[in-house]
Amino acid sequence: MGPESQELVRTLKLVLESQDSTVGLHEPSLVGREKEYLNACIDTGWVSSAGQFVTRFEESLKSYTGAGSVTLVCNGTTALFVALVVAGIGPEDEVLVPGLSFVATANAVVHAGAVPHFIDSDEATLGMSPDVLTSHLQYVVKDSKIGPINRKTGRRIAALVPMHTFGHPVRLQELKQIADNYGIRIIEDAAEGLGSWIGDHHVGTTSSLAILSFNGNKIITTGGGGAILTRDPLLGERIRHLTSTAKVPHDYRFIHDEIGWNYRMPNINAALGLAQMERLPQILRAKRQLAHRYQEEFADSEYFEFVTEQPGTRSNYWLNTIILRRPSVLVRNEVLECAIAAGLGCRAAWDLLPSLPMFSRCPTSSLHVAKTLEASIINVPSGASLKVNQRR
Ligand SMILES: *Cc1c(COP(=O)(O)O)cnc(C)c1O
Repeated sequence: MGPESQELVRTLKLVLESQDSTVGLHEPSLVGREKEYLNACIDTGWVSSAGQFVTRFEESLKSYTGAGSVTLVCNGTTALFVALVVAGIGPEDEVLVPGLSFVATANAVVHAGAVPHFIDSDEATLGMSPDVLTSHLQYVVKDSKIGPINRKTGRRIAALVPMHTFGHPVRLQELKQIADNYGIRIIEDAAEGLGSWIGDHHVGTTSSLAILSFNGNKIITTGGGGAILTRDPLLGERIRHLTSTAKVPHDYRFIHDEIGWNYRMPNINAALGLAQMERLPQILRAKRQLAHRYQEEFADSEYFEFVTEQPGTRSNYWLNTIILRRPSVLVRNEVLECAIAAGLGCRAAWDLLPSLPMFSRCPTSSLHVAKTLEASIINVPSGASLKVNQRR
């Protein structure tokens, strides 16, 4: 074991040693009213795409985040796809996305018929860099009547999809200013951001559209699920209509007035979601405690730096992240193998999206920082149910 691996395993065991089995990266915490609500679905027969839990979970998300409208759908990827389509993104468009993100961010862009255009990361937030975006657009964009055009590809640059990496809010205000200058729309991929705030605003509530995910590994889960947030209640109604087969309400006839999607979240998933949502404050508190412990233990580390929330923002600390002070894929891999062998669920960040075969020919800014982050990010166990040893 190299010195980095020794230190990581020792530190994680110090913080987490009271666990009696191997520790996952992020296990769901299902200790509230989940069973009660699921039983209610079964007892009443309301298990499918209508039922009170869908409405109640939507309302609870709406009041917690302050969003103008929330529509639940079957997962975060479809949520992003729908948000892009209702924002008018389609064939011949390019969409600016972070080069360092989960594959779904770019997949949804392609599902909508558009082309992802990758942008470098910011070291402190791990999200899209406004500095790189500014200089890159100056270099790439040619102005025209229909909006900003990529002078190399001839396609319209139509939207920007910032992502709140591991729950750390992106530098949204600056990105918004740049996007506004060019007339580019912002759609936030807040899949990892439930419980994260920028000032007094929950992430995803100041842009026209945003999405959340409730996949099994996210901060709260519905098994699988997602939500589309919008500030505009009318647009919210349109999203609800489109994602539920564009059905016109009627007592006994089946009338559909356009081609919609069957993307609504089933009631049994929403039942889980409501129970999870009731415990979100406790989950967030537990995660902050764990993050605080890691921060203490890694404070004097020679090898690792713990990633903290930035001033003016509040992170949900969905996945706790440490960064190798000396980036190296070799060291990163060795550290991860040792940690996993010791029963500690650690993970690397995603391989950069343009390094994947299906995105290798897409336009991109320089990805200098993203490349460094890829070689240095290590996510450490972050579940809200982990027992945390206090400092001795
Ligand atoms: C999880 C995630 C998604 C997709 O959500 P699913 O519910 O898994 O489809 C999209 N973007 C990011 C950044 C994610 O982490």
